[in-house]
Amino acid sequence: MFAIFEWNTLMSQVETHSTLTCPDCGHVETETMPTDACQYFYDCKGCGVVLKPLTGDCCVFCSYGDFP
Ligand SMILES: [Zn+2]
Repeated sequence: MFAIFEWNTLMSQVETHSTLTCPDCGHVETETMPTDACQYFYDCKGCGVVLKPLTGDCCVFCSYGDFP
């Protein structure tokens, strides 16, 4: 129980950012990851393409981000 409490405390204090890399134009943008939901779509600020998760991934951060 104590370990779970510690983990939750840690997660609430750490801002989760991820660097997304556009597969089309190579534009790199650091975005804040929503902690309560998955983000399915992301508008590239470089070329305007709408990124979607690759097959088997739950969100765009899984497919294009550098967060583990
Ligand atoms: Zn792009």
